[in-house]
Amino acid sequence: MRASNFSQAVKSQIALRVNYICSNPSCRKSTAQPKRNSTGSLKLADAAHITAASPGGPRYDSSISEAARSSEGNGIWLCTDCARMVDLDPDSFKVSQLLEWKQEAESLASKGFVITNRSKFRQAAEKVLASLRNAELEAGISGIDGPLEQLRIASAELEIPLAVEIETKKLLSKKPCNNVIAIEGSCRIRFPDGSWTGGNVFGVTGSEILADYKMVATTALEQWIIELG
Ligand SMILES: [Zn+2]
Repeated sequence: MRASNFSQAVKSQIALRVNYICSNPSCRKSTAQPKRNSTGSLKLADAAHITAASPGGPRYDSSISEAARSSEGNGIWLCTDCARMVDLDPDSFKVSQLLEWKQEAESLASKGFVITNRSKFRQAAEKVLASLRNAELEAGISGIDGPLEQLRIASAELEIPLAVEIETKKLLSKKPCNNVIAIEGSCRIRFPDGSWTGGNVFGVTGSEILADYKMVATTALEQWIIELG
């Protein structure tokens, strides 16, 4: 069966509807730029299929027509890395998720949203806050590593101290034949006024310390969001 690829006109529409910005909310990379030493431009993205162009492809839906499959509504603008990620892992990136991303990216573009380091920081901080708020005391804080890494990148770009920093070190026993691994966790929570709290604890992971400091970390992140506007 012939693959239902997008025409050039459809690809342009998909890109223009999101201002050439990657639709993945954790990415939002600008995907068009001038060539450095010559005229012309570079495009670091392509229109990705929400449901695959041909049978066997990621998220293929046999129930829709070929016309629908190659239409603007079945495309999402993603940078090269994000397009690869969603196609390699279709079980994690389902149709409903991609449609949500598309809608959100189009809505941001229609408001003239400009991706700034501040908005990246806000997005990352809100994800960390969501993980903290959902944390169960018994189960600990799960799914926080990704958001914390995004927060680290956004903080570095803004050249501000990292608001929430956790680390877990594995300590090897020095005695031979007694290869016991101990752990040591550290946690630092910094406020916009320069004050900070936290510490190192032996035998506990960084995220376990963070669970204890959950309320402080929540307050600090909320203050950073207000401070950075
Ligand atoms: Zn991307």
